[in-house]
Amino acid sequence: MDKAMILVIDGCAPEYLTRETAPDIYKLADEYGFAKIVKSAIPSVTNVNHACILSGKFPEDTKMVGNYFYNPETKEEGFIEEKGFMKAETILQAYKKEGKKTAFLTVKGKVLGVYGEGVDIGISVQTPDKAILDQLGLDMPPKVQDHSSTEWIMKAALACVKKENPDFVYCTTNDFVFHHFGPETSEAKAQIRYINYFINEINKADPDRRIYITADHGMNQKTKLINFQHMADNKNLNLYCLPPLKDRYVENHIYQEGGIIYVFLDKNQNPEEFLKLAKSVPEIEKIMTNTEAAKEFHLPADRIGDYVLFAAESCAFGEVEGERLETNDVRTHGSLYERNVPLITIHPEKEEEAYNYSKDIAALAMNL
Ligand SMILES: [Zn+2]
Repeated sequence: MDKAMILVIDGCAPEYLTRETAPDIYKLADEYGFAKIVKSAIPSVTNVNHACILSGKFPEDTKMVGNYFYNPETKEEGFIEEKGFMKAETILQAYKKEGKKTAFLTVKGKVLGVYGEGVDIGISVQTPDKAILDQLGLDMPPKVQDHSSTEWIMKAALACVKKENPDFVYCTTNDFVFHHFGPETSEAKAQIRYINYFINEINKADPDRRIYITADHGMNQKTKLINFQHMADNKNLNLYCLPPLKDRYVENHIYQEGGIIYVFLDKNQNPEEFLKLAKSVPEIEKIMTNTEAAKEFHLPADRIGDYVLFAAESCAFGEVEGERLETNDVRTHGSLYERNVPLITIHPEKEEEAYNYSKDIAALAMNL
């Protein structure tokens, strides 16, 4: 396997990464690769897509269906933050098998915890290892939500390539800024400017390295939030709503708001009563049974509840106080509308037509 780097810009809808905001990256893509839009896996949330991008497989194989898990048999639930949940082989492990050196750089610490097992160099803004930082000549990182965390992690990636020259580098950011700022804002543009600068530097330092830049999911403004759990409770329905986006990074999404939920019906709950309610809610655009969703989106049927609900474009499910909240302050993801992500390549493994999903980067590199 050739020397490569995958950069996953967290929450980078295609509108953020343009010829205007990232001129050097596009120049390199024009000369040595391509730029196109591909699809993320559904749900369009972080954990699900890191699993797919790292393994080249769909969630039916990775078994990662969210940032949070729920077991309807045992009623056990919790955050997915450590190893053991991911069931597919990662590209990091594939490189290791060939005796090659790997590096994993992330702003969100949990990503390293869940996927970074066995990497040679692991760098996390959230849980920095001083010895590694000293080795690479890096200062201590800022806070995870700090706007400069993107600059820091990109700088770390450059230092890593220059000093350690790993065969494979996986680098990812935090979507805090994009959750709060749209593509037209100077705050969002500054994020891309850092990425543009450091990718150009990484290319200069190691011109033959394959570089893939993509995102785990997009990001859109949402003006209506609904609490479907409260709606169901108010109708005395017995069900449990699991938002796959739910995580500990509440600064990013204070209501755990996202465009999709899994609904687990209690054994004694009549599905017709649930369907009657779900169909009456205008903010819900699509209702899929477990079987339909598993088939269409390659999801593991045993982990996504009995039904999967998708919000309309300007709406999201959220843990708001009442049943509904209207807002101008929410940008989030999770639905079918945040499925498009950029894919920009420099020296890609295959030609443009071979890439349809972000997971295809690893699938093609690993010859799956
Ligand atoms: Zn994300």
